[in-house]
Amino acid sequence: MRTVKVAIIGGGVSGLHAAGLLDRQGITDWALLEAKGVLGGRIVSVTAAGTSACADLAIAATKNRVDLGPSWFWPGFQPQLANLVQDLGLDAFAQFETGDMVVEHASNTSPRRMHSNASVPISMRLLGGMQSLIEALSRPLDSARIFTGQTVQRMRRVDGQVNISTLDANGIASTWQANQVLLAMPPRLVASRIDFTPALPEQLSRSWRATGTWMAPHAKYVAIYATPFWRQQGLSGEARSAVGPLGEIHDACIPDGSAALFGFIGVPCRVRQGVSDDVMRARCREQLARLFGPLAAVPQAEFLKDWALDPYTATAADCEEHAHHPHPPAMGPASGPWEGKLLGIGSEWSQQFPGYIAGAVEAATRGVTSLTTHATA
Ligand SMILES: Cc1cc2nc3c(=O)[nH]c(=O)nc-3n(C[C@H](O)[C@H](O)[C@H](O)COP(=O)(O)OP(=O)(O)OC[C@H]3O[C@@H](n4cnc5c(N)ncnc54)[C@H](O)[C@@H]3O)c2cc1C
Repeated sequence: MRTVKVAIIGGGVSGLHAAGLLDRQGITDWALLEAKGVLGGRIVSVTAAGTSACADLAIAATKNRVDLGPSWFWPGFQPQLANLVQDLGLDAFAQFETGDMVVEHASNTSPRRMHSNASVPISMRLLGGMQSLIEALSRPLDSARIFTGQTVQRMRRVDGQVNISTLDANGIASTWQANQVLLAMPPRLVASRIDFTPALPEQLSRSWRATGTWMAPHAKYVAIYATPFWRQQGLSGEARSAVGPLGEIHDACIPDGSAALFGFIGVPCRVRQGVSDDVMRARCREQLARLFGPLAAVPQAEFLKDWALDPYTATAADCEEHAHHPHPPAMGPASGPWEGKLLGIGSEWSQQFPGYIAGAVEAATRGVTSLTTHATA
């Protein structure tokens, strides 16, 4: 059994930001336990590879990435995240929105071009994808304290400490002991997948289970092209469709890199689970060709990520609900054996931006501040 002062469960933005903040507070005795083999959580950026055109691009492969999770942040109303992005030296650029959008109302009418105004506040993307935020947050951390492939299964209160049991991909069990635990994962996953002894207060557990995980029911499709042919037609790449399968489409080109379009699949999660990936991709290509012309039917590469099938993001309950930004539940037990031992710092616990990347940064900051205040009180 390994013993640490603070255990952080989850290696997305909130967990990695919390680890960095603990280091800065002089608390270096922490361990971060992440279920997946990679860090990032809901942030996944993939290299827009598989094309001969890419080899000629004047951009490194690590910069030529598209996002299968979040793409945007909004410095206009998320100053804490904007400052973090700046401090980490990341390159941000504005979402391309110049030109007309295309709207598809019904399957028996042709898609229509419409004038569209640029979004306010402006949506910003990161060069290298959001993964570059994960890489920048991870870089200064002691990698010997980060344990990937460790799924937390159980927590027990023992002699003033918390015993944390994990399983790796080969079914090998390990145990950690921590004085305090930061839960850097969605509240619903904590309450439905981790077994607590003694049990968490019933009302708290119910409120965590009732908190939807933002974007968990969604799926994203990205198509990579040799050229941004839609821009040459005066189109912004933005589209809305009541026909589908994509409900909302945007330009996803990388400056000096690959041309790309991405869309959110509008087909409800239960329905799309009966459709194979190959069929879904084919339907997406057909739709993009209807909206943007025949060149859209032949992408150089395609990516499809269904977040509802990701066991470390979604539960069955996420599939049943309409997506809306969650109301943040209490961060931890206010009484009983778990009081002062558990603090929720995943994005859904954020007061200001629950569900957003900015929320993950805010909740992690609040959690570490609360933990260090109590430790020194
Ligand atoms: C398709 C999509 C689009 C989005 N678009 C945007 C956007 O444009 N802008 C924006 O601000 N936000 C967006 N979001 C939301 C954003 O991704 C999240 O707010 C943010 O990434 C949450 O970070 P987190 O650290 O709180 O949680 P997560 O990223 O969910 O990290 C939790 C981590 O915990 C791990 N974990 C889970 N269970 C266990 C366990 N039992 N043991 C150990 N580890 C475990 C997971 O593997 C994961 O790595 C989007 C999300 C998706 C899916």
